[in-house]
Amino acid sequence: MSARTELARVDLRGRTPSVAELRSALPRGGVDVDAVLHQVRPVVEAIRDRGADAALEFGEKFDGVRPAQVRVPRAELTRALAELDPDVRAALEVAIERTRKVHADQRRTDTTTEVVPGGTVTERWVPVERVGLYVPGGNAVYPSSVVMNVVPAQAAGVESLVVASPPQAAFGGLPHPTILAAAELLGVEEVWAVGGAQAVALLTYGGIDTDGAELAPVDLITGPGNIYVTAAKRLCRGLVGIDAEAGPTEIAILADDTADPVHVAADLISQAEHDVMAASVLVTTSTALADAVDAALTAQLALTKHQERVATALAGSQSGVILVDSIEDGLRVVNAYAAEHLEIQTENASEVAGSVRSAGAIFVGPWAPVSLGDYCAGSNHVLPTAGCARHSSGLSVQTFLRGIHVVDYSESALKDVARHVINLANAEDLPAHGEAIRLRFESLQ
Ligand code: NAD
Repeated sequence: MSARTELARVDLRGRTPSVAELRSALPRGGVDVDAVLHQVRPVVEAIRDRGADAALEFGEKFDGVRPAQVRVPRAELTRALAELDPDVRAALEVAIERTRKVHADQRRTDTTTEVVPGGTVTERWVPVERVGLYVPGGNAVYPSSVVMNVVPAQAAGVESLVVASPPQAAFGGLPHPTILAAAELLGVEEVWAVGGAQAVALLTYGGIDTDGAELAPVDLITGPGNIYVTAAKRLCRGLVGIDAEAGPTEIAILADDTADPVHVAADLISQAEHDVMAASVLVTTSTALADAVDAALTAQLALTKHQERVATALAGSQSGVILVDSIEDGLRVVNAYAAEHLEIQTENASEVAGSVRSAGAIFVGPWAPVSLGDYCAGSNHVLPTAGCARHSSGLSVQTFLRGIHVVDYSESALKDVARHVINLANAEDLPAHGEAIRLRFESLQ
């Protein structure tokens, strides 16, 4: 691929667009999940009606292999870890250790508020009982996503965990061995060989495996995935808890002329490598930097392994360069865009990062590239995409906890507030609510 690579440019210099104008002017992935719902609905319904049998058929259809059974035998997990390349094992152990360190600090403690003497409300944090963790395995395999899903769930105290990942034809219908090895390293005993929409549906409805064993449904599904996984999550939401939609990856880089164009280009390519739908966006005050990044992209693209995938992602309408007058304007752009990953490569990067309001994760300065966060920073890499960072967070211990309010009032504390409850109940024309209070106290009859 010798042609020059130039990211499409959006020139916002000399303009102060509103947030709504910004959102429509910025390049954004054209991932139209609704467009595949009609393909995914029959898959979900088939799993609901026929369980594991249907899942194995879809493995044959979409992954090119029919696994012998859904649940991966324990011996395969042990074998995968025993045969794992020692360098990959060491890297996974570092990733696990750092991710555990960060997520251990996210544990919540219960809080008790004494509203009045004799009246308390406690917020008790209780882990979700059974969780399904989706680990992608289409274009690339993601043992790192096993770490990013399992570590916060375990730190939250989730007792029952199942990892689901697509069966691989090259491995006899088992998920990729590094995924099995990562599960074993983390002490996960239950792994299912099922991917895509059928995985989300089987985790939701459960089923019976070919050997008669139960595949128990889960309470919550987390983890990234492609458009089919995301569509199935939309269809199953409600029947089961779903984390934020973590779709095709995105990187935005806010940079000025102090940034190194070679590093900027490398970081844009590193995320484009995930998916033809991945978005790589540069927001800069410097046309000289934008030109130098184009030149560096051309040079690096010629050498990168997944050249075609990267080139397609960079040429897509979801990728581009936004030219702005100032870093302040750049901040308006990145806040409106709400990227999954945002790098700040400017002078005073920490200060600039402090003004960011919307991003899945922020990477500050030249020594914190997104690749670090993908594996070994300690932060989580399952992050909201498609602008969902405006309202959602990445995976954390909090994702796996429910806050339950425990209300404990004494007789006198209830009596003190009784007339207010009765008056509000009457105002809502729900007199039985008031009656439930009144009949407890003779003096109120
Ligand atoms: P995947 O496991 O999500 O999808 C593979 C599955 O898709 C297959 O098992 C197959 O069943 C199904 N499928 C493929 N073609 C189909 C079709 N035509 N109809 C129905 N089903 C079909 O793996 P992937 O494809 O590599 O996608 C992984 C995605 O996850 C990428 O977009 C990547 O960017 C993203 N990702 C996101 C994050 C994040 O935190 N946002 C992290 C890691 C990966």
